Amino acid sequence: MHRVVVIGASLAGLRAAQAVRSVGHDGALVVVGDEAHLPYTRPPLSKQLLAGEQTHHDCAFPAVDTLDADWRLGAAATGLDRASKTVTLADGQSLTYDRLIIATGCRARTWPDAPGGVHTLRGIDDALALRAALDAQPQRIAIVGAGFVGCEVAATARKAGVAVTLIDVEAQPLVPLGAELGARCAALHREHGVDLRLGAGVATLRKGGVDLTDGTRVDAEVVLAAVGALPNTEWLAGSGLALDARGGLLCDATLTSVTDDDVLAAGDVVSWPHPLAGGDAVRVEHWTTAAEHGALAGRNALADDASERAGHVAPPYFWSDQYDLKIQAVGFPARGATLTIVDEDGPRLVAEARDAAGRLVGAITFNNAKRLAAYRRQLATEALGAAA
Ligand SMILES: Cc1cc2nc3c(=O)[nH]c(=O)nc-3n(C[C@H](O)[C@H](O)[C@H](O)COP(=O)(O)OP(=O)(O)OC[C@H]3O[C@@H](n4cnc5c(N)ncnc54)[C@H](O)[C@@H]3O)c2cc1C
Repeated sequence: MHRVVVIGASLAGLRAAQAVRSVGHDGALVVVGDEAHLPYTRPPLSKQLLAGEQTHHDCAFPAVDTLDADWRLGAAATGLDRASKTVTLADGQSLTYDRLIIATGCRARTWPDAPGGVHTLRGIDDALALRAALDAQPQRIAIVGAGFVGCEVAATARKAGVAVTLIDVEAQPLVPLGAELGARCAALHREHGVDLRLGAGVATLRKGGVDLTDGTRVDAEVVLAAVGALPNTEWLAGSGLALDARGGLLCDATLTSVTDDDVLAAGDVVSWPHPLAGGDAVRVEHWTTAAEHGALAGRNALADDASERAGHVAPPYFWSDQYDLKIQAVGFPARGATLTIVDEDGPRLVAEARDAAGRLVGAITFNNAKRLAAYRRQLATEALGAAA
């Protein structure tokens, strides 16, 4: 094994590169990233960094500079030729590899025909631009999309004293939490003064506000489109690597491309079969999964034979912080036939998701990390059993 090339210099790519070194690879290791920055963690971008409580420096991963890697930053990968095992970069360079790890994550989905000045939030530059806009003390921010990023930004903006209109076409915020928990989150945002417009179609995003399909105008100096994320796989067009219907890179349980044993992948970009999802291919956009994926893909990339590679079976885990509420989820709650609140005590809540046969498939807690940890252990054991 001469050269391992990692494309994507963020969480999954960093963990992959660290694992490649930690299992003893002493050959070349190249990490390519299209952002100009060394890897940094994204969760604070909608929370502490946006609130001005953390800086870019605080978001940097520790010890990155001690990793013996050739960093190619500010250089997007633009093509892959698997026959010659060559990746081409936007700056005209090309890199050959023995093993390739793709960790190109996702980008923010943009609103069609949005004018300049409408914000999206995925990277540190986006977050700093949004923070500057909030620091200018606007009268109002209009946020289109009441998913996790939209709701977290709403909470941060309210904390900064900025009026918020949060708009979603769905009847509830945070759809993956189900109707009951979604209604509680809606109430929480309203208690904090958010003007929450649910079931509201957006006709136009304009500079200076949002026009709804019912004719209502929402005037706001700051507009954020928080309407989801798309996997960064366009650069693989023509490579022959299989993608799922939504552009995720199709891998087997060991995070190896289903098309090519020398190509592995990690993080938000991957679509892989999970035992807790009945073996269906899933793509999750969770920090912890990206870190676990990276570590596993790095180790698996160095296995002499693809049959020696281990599978990723850990249940997906996710958290979100909004006001004083910590939402945590494990497994696949949205795939359950039922989601039942089994315990509630003031601001703490525990809900279990079960399939039609009554098997636990996921759990959600509000302000109850201890109970969530117990479900995480239980689902990890069940996933191992299902994978065996
Ligand atoms: C604002 C925000 C808040 C979040 N909060 C939470 C949270 O509270 N809890 C939680 O569990 N998760 C949270 N997440 C999700 C979590 O951050 C992601 O799951 C994680 O960043 C995924 O890591 P990744 O390395 O797979 O992908 P990414 O972090 O998306 O990194 C991919 C990298 O590859 C680069 N790239 C893309 N294409 C190319 C190319 N062609 N060539 C070279 N480089 C390329 C990208 O620019 C990027 O730097 C949040 C995400 C955001 C955006």
